[in-house]
Amino acid sequence: MPLSNRPTLTQYLIEQRRRFPQASGTMNALILDVSIAAKAIARAVACGELGDPAARELVAAAQSHAPIEAPGEAARPLDLVSNEIFLRTAEWSGHLAGMASEEMAQPYRIPARYARGKYLLAFDPLDGSGNLDVNVSVGSIFSVLRAPDEAAAGGREVRDADFLQPGTAQVAAGYAIYGPMTMLVLTVGNGVVGFTLDHDLGEFKLTHPDIRVPDDAQEFAIDASNARFWEPPVKRYVDECLAGRSGLRAKDFNMRWIASLVAEAHRILMRGGVFLYPKDTRSPGRPGRLRLLYEANPIGFILEQAGGRASTGREPVLGVRPAGLHQRIGLVFGSKHEVERIERYHAEYDAGTDRPYVSPLFSERSLFRPEALI
Ligand code: MN
Ligand code: MN
Repeated sequence: MPLSNRPTLTQYLIEQRRRFPQASGTMNALILDVSIAAKAIARAVACGELGDPAARELVAAAQSHAPIEAPGEAARPLDLVSNEIFLRTAEWSGHLAGMASEEMAQPYRIPARYARGKYLLAFDPLDGSGNLDVNVSVGSIFSVLRAPDEAAAGGREVRDADFLQPGTAQVAAGYAIYGPMTMLVLTVGNGVVGFTLDHDLGEFKLTHPDIRVPDDAQEFAIDASNARFWEPPVKRYVDECLAGRSGLRAKDFNMRWIASLVAEAHRILMRGGVFLYPKDTRSPGRPGRLRLLYEANPIGFILEQAGGRASTGREPVLGVRPAGLHQRIGLVFGSKHEVERIERYHAEYDAGTDRPYVSPLFSERSLFRPEALI
């Protein structure tokens, strides 16, 4: 199909809405607002050290109303600019009762001069921002929830508890990736579609009408520098991958690690694989590193809608009932059969029935077994 015949995001959303005549169109308008935020952030990111003149104004605006930064990694200027872009592009339309961001300690209240709507928007405005200095892909992640009726009607301000809904309650989720191409990947609970930004037109065009994650994979992604903190089932899985063709899996694996969740998710959506940032033993009080509301739930929803699977290792991530706005969680997602295997290893470990893999190099008859070396 020639590029000119590809539907734009707007056309796509209108056509989808024709299939559901009872829909109000509110969700479409909200998604279009988010897509404008993505375009503005893409530009700010692409300017790099040159600086985006539009972003400079936003830094000043961000400082004036001073959103209190959420506890966690130090925010960079572009994190705050991106946060500001999300707030400004989504607050005015009357579709939202409130917003929550990785960058703000408290939920954002819609200013009184704007109408309130029935949805809540949660987002990580700039995911992987540590990659900016080295010019590697970053992204934005968003999740749409329904607001409780009292808050939706504008009867009261939103509060933390309004956002503490399990991932299964999401009505839409998506991410934008700012890489060699700027893309928007989206689900409204009816499969996953991908759009590529046509910079000349300033429009997202449908390029990936039905994204499916293959059930099997030859690629895994994990930060191996944390290996000494891994729980035994994670170590067992990775050891088996590393053993490759000569091991229990009888096939070779590749390893990848980009340190940008959006980029990892995108690779897996395009060609399969599995990503692990599991709970580890480093700080027993901390059940993982990624944020449940802004990262794990939206990415999990997209993955499951694409036929993949998302898990904490012990339960489906979308079933977890959040306890706090900035709650962190262990996350494993990707090709279904790999994630199921990792879940099985956790279950076997917890039940005490696991049999960790032993490399043939260190097995009974091996010359390399420790006693033989003495
Ligand atoms: Mn992030
Ligand atoms: Mn972020």
